[in-house]
Amino acid sequence: MRKPVIAIDGYSSTGKSSISKIIAHELGLVHLDTGALYRGITLFALNNCTTADNQIDLPHLFRRLSEIKLEFKVINNDLVTFLNGIDISKEIRTNKISQTVSLIARQKEIRDFLMETQRAAAKNGGIIMDGRDIGTVILPDADFKFFLTASIEERTKRRFLELQRLGIEADEDTVMKNLTQRDKIDSEREFAPLRKADDAIVIDNSNLSKLETIQLILSHIQTF
Ligand code: C5P
Repeated sequence: MRKPVIAIDGYSSTGKSSISKIIAHELGLVHLDTGALYRGITLFALNNCTTADNQIDLPHLFRRLSEIKLEFKVINNDLVTFLNGIDISKEIRTNKISQTVSLIARQKEIRDFLMETQRAAAKNGGIIMDGRDIGTVILPDADFKFFLTASIEERTKRRFLELQRLGIEADEDTVMKNLTQRDKIDSEREFAPLRKADDAIVIDNSNLSKLETIQLILSHIQTF
């Protein structure tokens, strides 16, 4: 029997990735955290494609996209992101990357570059993919689509705790500003903006635990 394709979109820090990872494990699916792809390209750009005054040189980045190889490997039950063979899973969570990623992700060249990788991963079914445009652009025919949202206060708290756990220095004010700014850029961009697909199920998990959110999602999928 063909396994389902599940799209999870939504605002920053609604728990999309950690929830998807657990559901993938539960249902025996592959999990693809598409945010890590955009973060990986941002890291490459900051390391290799900046101008003398430290701005990202977009034309330079576009010319070098073919040099970027992003891969995921499961290590100790965790999905580890590699950029050209180097583990970047911690580095892509830093403030610098979070502050720059939405500017990179709004470029059409970047979105086109990542489109095929994402679609190819879902070709044979059996995948849960989380991001911003999965249900609308990447996998419009997904079997299930969910759109996660939560209050900005709750999301700030969650991201702050996540950064603390990773040992990355942060303060709640900066985290809140970054989430708000990213959501604004992501929602207002011209190509593949953050938007609920017409047929997506909305879940506001401001007052739900991670486990409750997972159970709710599973209750919709169980009928498959
Ligand atoms: O999911 P995460 O917060 O790691 O995503 C980081 C950024 O990558 C988002 O704020 C957005 O700018 C971009 N992104 C995107 N489309 C996706 C996934 C992420 O534009 N499918």
